[in-house]
Amino acid sequence: MANIGYIQMVRHCNQNCGFCSNPETPWFHDAAQVRDLVDDFAARGYFGVIFTGGEPTLSPALPDAIAHARDRGLHTRLISNGQKLADRAYLRLLEDAGLQHVHVSVHSHKAALEDFLTGTPGSLAWAEQALSHLAESPVRVDVNVVINRFNCDQLHETIAWFERRYPHVRHFIFNNLDPSIGRAHTNTYFTPKLRDLEYALHAAARRLTASGRTFRVEKVPLCYMGGFEHTSTETRKIIKSEERIVHFLDEKGTVRQQQWGHKHHAVCRSCTLRGLCAGLFDRGDAYDPAELTPVFVDPRPIVDRVAADEASDPAWRRAKLKDTAALVADEPQPPETMAPPDGSRLVTPSHNRKRRRDPWVDWHPVDAPLPGQPTPEG
Ligand code: SF4
Repeated sequence: MANIGYIQMVRHCNQNCGFCSNPETPWFHDAAQVRDLVDDFAARGYFGVIFTGGEPTLSPALPDAIAHARDRGLHTRLISNGQKLADRAYLRLLEDAGLQHVHVSVHSHKAALEDFLTGTPGSLAWAEQALSHLAESPVRVDVNVVINRFNCDQLHETIAWFERRYPHVRHFIFNNLDPSIGRAHTNTYFTPKLRDLEYALHAAARRLTASGRTFRVEKVPLCYMGGFEHTSTETRKIIKSEERIVHFLDEKGTVRQQQWGHKHHAVCRSCTLRGLCAGLFDRGDAYDPAELTPVFVDPRPIVDRVAADEASDPAWRRAKLKDTAALVADEPQPPETMAPPDGSRLVTPSHNRKRRRDPWVDWHPVDAPLPGQPTPEG
């Protein structure tokens, strides 16, 4: 199967996003621990590993972790805010270690809005510098956009901006905000209404499709994704029968997620897509189930489309479809018998996390000048 594991390297960050799903804790994984976790993924036959955080580029163990993962035959990915990748020498260090794929998180093409969302003045300029370096790098770059109340009506404009300025970016991931965790749980004003994201998400999807680009959408119910349901991350995982293990650096510890169906509402009972849809996810009652609308389309073309979609998925060659007939059964199941929301199933951490110590290799964009600006020393 095309499983990909996640390792949080650190939980501190050089940005301060108001909706961060994994805000700072005092924990980190050191090089020896990461090697053990990577070895475990390799032993399980995983396709790859995603190094994440916090901001993983703040971990001094990252280059070694990437090199070890490549030695073990794993595909290596990084999720980063791009601030430190603006340093070409640092990006080269990761390239030389064997980094193959990076997701740079950019939530708006408007500098002032990006400043507000990231809590970091100048963050867009630094991410742009990283994207420019990545245009000339062997590392594949995708862009992650967290959908929130302040950008949800502009997603198509952001995509148009990327198409103009960074044509080498060929794949986007729209992560709908999860207000059940992290800072978004406190800062509830970031949570969008589903109806407010629908138009811009559809317009962005049409734009990307027309230009030959690909995309994925996370945590958006399928009734808001008419025509591009096959791009739902959860739907694809349901169809491909995938699992994922995440090594968190908080009280969750190590989580093995095998079920992708979450909170369905009573209205979902008559919906023909319920077997493919993760519903509203377990999102702390911040979304309104009254926004859900059952749909009555044939689910089989969606299953077929996921099954036929090899080109946009580098992990595809190891994918194994589950019994898709069960997903499109004619008889609706009552909600009580649906899979319980066990995505947060906990197991005892398999490793001894360490507390962060100083001195630490910290880096913040305000420590270095913006491109073209003089240094503080003049
Ligand atoms: S009605 Fe429920 S099962 Fe159907 S698409 Fe919407 S959230 Fe999914």
